[in-house]
Amino acid sequence: MCLFCKIAAGEIPSTKVYEDDQILAFRDIAPMAPTHILVIPKTHIPSVDGITAENSNLVAHIFEMIPKIAAEEGLTGGYRVVSNCGADAGQTVHHLHFHILGGKQLSTEMA
Ligand code: 5GP
Ligand code: ZN
Repeated sequence: MCLFCKIAAGEIPSTKVYEDDQILAFRDIAPMAPTHILVIPKTHIPSVDGITAENSNLVAHIFEMIPKIAAEEGLTGGYRVVSNCGADAGQTVHHLHFHILGGKQLSTEMA
């Protein structure tokens, strides 16, 4: 089982922000902004490259919940949603995840 599958299964502890039957949101262990949350599907999808017609409902659900999570976190000034896909993007955990970053003026450098 991959690291985030273990977190989704509760085998590795995490600071949960939101959970339902399909997805989990938890705090990044090495935050890069005052608010740094990771949102994952509970089922294993390796990356954005693994999104298909069969599982895109999970991604839609994640994006439906992101604004609610951001509002709950008080990110009224805005926030950034990032997903690193593959080596060039520096993806380190190969289980699809979306970073929510906020709580400060974020860098204007996207890449
Ligand atoms: P990536 O680099 O793949 O886009 O993002 C992986 C993220 O997972 C990193 O921001 C890293 O800090 C976070 N991370 C890695 N291991 C753990 C862990 O065990 N717990 C939590 N909460 N975050 C983790
Ligand atoms: Zn996984």
